[in-house]
Amino acid sequence: MIASTPYGEVLQIRMSRYPDFPSGMWVCAYLVDGLLVDTGMAHTAEELAKFLKDKHLKVAVNTHFHEDHISGNKFLQDDYGIEIYAPALSVDKINKPAKLYPYQEEVWGYPVPSVVKTLGDHVNTQNYRFEVIPTPGHERDQICLWEKTNGWLFTSDLYISTEPVACRSTDDMWQILADLENIRALNPQVLFPAPTHVVYEPAAKLDELISYLEELGTRIEELYKKGKSVERIKEEIFSSEDMFAQMTQQQFSSLNMVKSFLKNHLGS
Ligand SMILES: [Zn+2]
Repeated sequence: MIASTPYGEVLQIRMSRYPDFPSGMWVCAYLVDGLLVDTGMAHTAEELAKFLKDKHLKVAVNTHFHEDHISGNKFLQDDYGIEIYAPALSVDKINKPAKLYPYQEEVWGYPVPSVVKTLGDHVNTQNYRFEVIPTPGHERDQICLWEKTNGWLFTSDLYISTEPVACRSTDDMWQILADLENIRALNPQVLFPAPTHVVYEPAAKLDELISYLEELGTRIEELYKKGKSVERIKEEIFSSEDMFAQMTQQQFSSLNMVKSFLKNHLGS
């Protein structure tokens, strides 16, 4: 299912296979001035291509190679002949998508491989210039797009909530914290995240998230220095894993979060 909401000149396009599910498992793409930021999941790829008819699509950017950001590519290229750009490290991964967890196949689907071009340091549309801001914490090549005159920041998977309690094993939490400090310094007026709602005047929420992660990381390191095990630290701070961890076969878990904050102590 696809639903859309205009936020001024930016159209949020929400996609979900299970819209009635409590969390909805939505993922968002954004259309602005002919630029599509991310192309969503496989299960809604054909629907997205139909939805974009008569919407003056000119170009698309994948913010990183995860399957819920790239899977409309092939359909949009076939229907509209557009160029699609992705960060350098993502190009091969989009052309040869990796195996997915069963839940990922169920919720988002496996992407049809597509050929994309390497993204430079900005994207121009008819009326705007979008700067590429590297934010490598969530994935080494994830980028945000920044339109300075309007203060628009397309944050991909960098911003999810102000109190995250789980992450992927590949997430680097200290780097995510640095990424958040970097985007906070841009003083964005609106955040357009992939996994959640649009956030107007996000300074307070970004500050809240930055403080939360700083305190969480420091507390985890302190407990580790006192000799507590990773498992024990997780139990003390997060009590038990939530349903999401079970549902994602532990791909997203609080244990991953503890390990990520301790990566300098545990080694890789
Ligand atoms: Zn991602």
